[in-house]
Amino acid sequence: MAHPLKHAQGSAKKFGGQAEDYLAVHKWFDESKAFFADFRHRALRHHAEGIFLSERIFGVTITNSDGNQVPVRYIGEQHVKEDLGRIPTAQDWLSQIKPQRWMYGQRLAIERSRLPSDVSKGQSEYKEFIDCKGRCDAAFQGNE
Ligand SMILES: [Zn+2]
Repeated sequence: MAHPLKHAQGSAKKFGGQAEDYLAVHKWFDESKAFFADFRHRALRHHAEGIFLSERIFGVTITNSDGNQVPVRYIGEQHVKEDLGRIPTAQDWLSQIKPQRWMYGQRLAIERSRLPSDVSKGQSEYKEFIDCKGRCDAAFQGNE
């Protein structure tokens, strides 16, 4: 399944009304294709969190041309299942990102020696730095 119209036709078959009733929701899911041309564009919206976000954008339900209310969440679930065969979480996608040094953020650019000598003043920042560094270093093992 690829084009939003195909998904919309599937919605009309499943929930009634016309394909046009559902097209906006399906187009929203696939908009990320505009800036990432292969299937990986789906990482941005094709997951459980994306489905709930679609509900916040389009409302809890849409009313199709038969006059029936259809939960937007059901439309999103149909879309993601048609594309992926299941509904992954955002974590399923994000955990596949290979960590890069720039992802650390600027906090890790601070050297320990440059942290405040008054530990009580900079304690929480220092703790955050150490916690993050430990996690990030673990993520980096074998990736450099
Ligand atoms: Zn899609």
